[in-house]
Amino acid sequence: MNVLALFLTVVFLAMAGADGAIAQRGPRGGPEQSREVRESMGQIAVGLVPVYPAAHHCTPVVSPFGSLTRYDGSARANDHGGFHNGIDITLREGTPILAIAAGEVILAGAGGLLVGNYVWLRHTPADTGLPSYLYSRYQHLDQPSPLPVGRRLNVGDPVGASGKTGTVGPYYGAAGYPHLHLTLIASAGPHYEVRGDTILAPGRRFLDPLAVYMKTPVSLDNHVLRDLPPAEKRVPIPYQTSDGTRVPMDTKVIWPVACGKL
Ligand SMILES: [Zn+2]
Repeated sequence: MNVLALFLTVVFLAMAGADGAIAQRGPRGGPEQSREVRESMGQIAVGLVPVYPAAHHCTPVVSPFGSLTRYDGSARANDHGGFHNGIDITLREGTPILAIAAGEVILAGAGGLLVGNYVWLRHTPADTGLPSYLYSRYQHLDQPSPLPVGRRLNVGDPVGASGKTGTVGPYYGAAGYPHLHLTLIASAGPHYEVRGDTILAPGRRFLDPLAVYMKTPVSLDNHVLRDLPPAEKRVPIPYQTSDGTRVPMDTKVIWPVACGKL
């Protein structure tokens, strides 16, 4: 075999490989992520346990980060192995959604099925008191966000109102499922690129959103958090009440929905 023939063979095999990858489609039609890529991105079950306040009622998580099932116990269907890359909170439509920390609006739009209307915020380490840049995405809002890119929000400022956009369809039917899906991404720096309805940031990794509420997180790495002893996985939830009081008073991060009277 001469060099040219060898070269053509290599090119052919590479193209066949690429075709093979394209043929590997997830249930939603996108390329199915490999398990290795998912794990390296922090898409693993972490097992943090929210501890809600005794003095107020906070609307709880009904499908945690890493869950393979929806709130009703049914198996998820998505292009990352059925993995839930955020937390779900069931809400009446029109419930105010709050910025979990001070931050800047970096992207807002209307996505399709599974995405809906969304807002992305970027939080600096000074915004959260945590040693990483964090990016939060709030999904299924009832209306496209009027917030302009570049707007600074204080912790607890409204980012929109809850809705069911992006949920009406094959699984939930015409009724849809009104809820908030909150995603957290950690990255070493402030730089990001917009890709459709998501952002790419250097070394970005998914983070169990509950991690930001830990008093002193030992790490913002899901693999480290997963391996904590159970007692250290309990996370008391800081929050804001409907009248705007934050508990504890000096917290920089809060639950994305106001907590009310018991
Ligand atoms: Zn979700």
